[in-house]
Amino acid sequence: MQIYWTKINRIIEETAEVKTYLLDCPEDFIWEEGSHTHFALEGFNAGDKPNRSLIRHMSISTLPHENLIGITTRIRENCSEFKAILRNLEVGNEVAIFKTHSNVPLKRENKNVYLLSSGVGLATFRPLVLDYFERADNVNQIHSLNIDSSKDFLFTNIFKSAPDKNFTSQFVDNRKDYYEEVKNLATDKDGLFYIVGSDEFLVQNIEVLYEQGIKPEQIMLDKHEKALPDFLSIVETL
Ligand SMILES: Cc1cc2nc3c(=O)[nH]c(=O)nc-3n(C[C@H](O)[C@H](O)[C@H](O)COP(=O)(O)OP(=O)(O)OC[C@H]3O[C@@H](n4cnc5c(N)ncnc54)[C@H](O)[C@@H]3O)c2cc1C
Repeated sequence: MQIYWTKINRIIEETAEVKTYLLDCPEDFIWEEGSHTHFALEGFNAGDKPNRSLIRHMSISTLPHENLIGITTRIRENCSEFKAILRNLEVGNEVAIFKTHSNVPLKRENKNVYLLSSGVGLATFRPLVLDYFERADNVNQIHSLNIDSSKDFLFTNIFKSAPDKNFTSQFVDNRKDYYEEVKNLATDKDGLFYIVGSDEFLVQNIEVLYEQGIKPEQIMLDKHEKALPDFLSIVETL
C-alpha cells in the first residue's frame, strides 16, 4: 500500500462549520469522480498498528484537472480528536492519503441520474456533476437533491439549476420536504439513484425508493462492492 504524504495548499471556509482542505497533488496520485480516500494525520502510523483515531474516510470533492485534492468536512464545536487536530492545521502542514477508490463513478447508461445527499454528502457528488458538465455523453440529465438542516447549503456556484445543461439542483432544510421530493423523483421508474449520507440516511432513502418500486440495481451507494448486496438486501426485507 502506498502512503502519499502531501501538504495542505489552501483551506476554504465553505460555511461556518464546513471547510475544504485543498491538498497538493502528488505526481503519480490518480483518482476518478466519486472517489474516497483514507485521510490521515501526522503520527497515524508511528506505532506498531495504525492509530485509527487519526484516520477517516473522506470523499475527494475535486476532479484531477483541478490539480488539487479536495477534502470537504464539517467540523462542529463539539468534535472528535481527529477533527479537533484538523481544525488547527494550517497551509503547509502535512497530511497523508492512501487507499483511494471510487464506488460511485458516473454511470453513462442513457438514463436520468438522481443524486440524493445529506449535508457534506454533496462533496462526493461535486466531481460527478463537474464531470457531467464537461462531458454529458450518455447521461440524459442529472437532478441533485440535498438536505441540510443548517440551511448553509454547499457548492451553490456549481449546484444551481441549469436547464440548458439538463441539470437541476434542489436544496431543502427539512425531512418532510426531502422525502416528498424523493417520492416525486422515484416516479421515474428507470432512473439511477445515488445516495450519500449516514447509514441511517441510506436506509431511509432505500426504503422510500423500494416502496415506490425502484429496484436494488438502480441504487448506487458509496459502499464497498462486498458490503453492497448485504446492505441492499437487509433493507429489502424491512
Ligand atoms: C466512503 C466514505 C466517504 C466519506 N466521505 C466524507 C466526506 O467527504 N466528508 C466528511 O466529513 N465525512 C465523510 N465520511 C465520514 C467520515 O469518515 C467521518 O465518519 C465523519 O466525518 C465523522 O467524523 P468524526 O468521527 O471525526 O466525528 P465528528 O464529525 O467530529 O463527530 C460526529 C458526531 O459525534 C459527536 N462527537 C464526536 N466526538 C465527540 C466527543 N469526543 N464528545 C462528544 N461528542 C462527540 C459530534 O458532536 C458529532 O455529532 C465518509 C465516510 C465514508 C465511509
